[in-house]
Amino acid sequence: MSVDEPVLLGPARVRELAAAAGVRPTKALGQNFVLDAGTVRKIVRQASVQPGDVVVEVGPGLGSLTLGLLAAGADVVAVEIDPVLAELLPSTVVAQAPGLRVDAGADGSAAAGDPVVLRDATGRARLTVVTADALTVTALPGPAPTALVANLPYNVAVPVLLTFLERFDSLDRALVMVQAEVADRLVAGPGSRIYGVPSAKVAWYAAARRVATVGRTVFWPVPNVDSALVRLDRREPPPTTASRQAVFAVIDAAFAQRRKMLRSALAPLAGSPAAAVQALESAGLEPGDRGERVDIAGFAALAEHLVPVAGAGVR
Ligand code: SAM
Repeated sequence: MSVDEPVLLGPARVRELAAAAGVRPTKALGQNFVLDAGTVRKIVRQASVQPGDVVVEVGPGLGSLTLGLLAAGADVVAVEIDPVLAELLPSTVVAQAPGLRVDAGADGSAAAGDPVVLRDATGRARLTVVTADALTVTALPGPAPTALVANLPYNVAVPVLLTFLERFDSLDRALVMVQAEVADRLVAGPGSRIYGVPSAKVAWYAAARRVATVGRTVFWPVPNVDSALVRLDRREPPPTTASRQAVFAVIDAAFAQRRKMLRSALAPLAGSPAAAVQALESAGLEPGDRGERVDIAGFAALAEHLVPVAGAGVR
């Protein structure tokens, strides 16, 4: 271990940092901070983080995972919505990773709201802290990110994941910690009781698998539910002439009323039940089937054969 290697946070340090900054975790922002360095190492390992990776971390919080990512040699862009936590992060990282320094801008004139950059002795940007709502971020500073690694805020986990896969096509993988129940839905396949909109949309972008369960005691405060790690590896979407938006509109319609047969669920999109039946048959699907049985290739084929009614806006 080099003298400059970041020291990961443990329970005492997390509480000390929070107390010193007056941080009181809020449920509304899904603030459950990881106290356990072993869990951080597991996340970093399951994400296959290596030197040269540019990792985007959503919600760095007090920095538990950020330090693990830096220790593995990644350059990190951290997007945090809470300005108190975003402001605290650079000083925490400098204290735990002595080789890094805050870059105050060439003339010392970095403006409030600008990303804060921490560099190593060679001048390389190792950590960039962006204060923003991840759902509104359309561009990130620095080189294109190669991986999303995050302990996601529970209330926005699925939209954040889908938004980042859509907006940053340089991401070749993601490793996210989410509620165990959400993890199961993300990785579910057709035919499963919990297969639904998140499962089908994630399958457009990536192969997803659940790689570990994480107990609630590794967090402060302790949440009411267990968590799990999901690994996603980007792959090509199924070949189709339909746009992603068209495919996603079909998925939304197919699951809008669970238990409805596809021929009725898709009638509003197709213009009529008869047009929906025709599209389903052309796509090689059974009109009496339900969305729960259709895989992402099936939804793509369906979107291709659906002639949308004016205003349905799926192409
Ligand atoms: N990564 C830290 C850890 O593992 O200890 C904290 C994880 S905590 C579950 C989620 C973090 O996401 C919090 O720091 C919270 O403030 C932040 N957050 C919540 N909503 C966000 C959003 N829309 N955009 C960016 N960050 C968000």
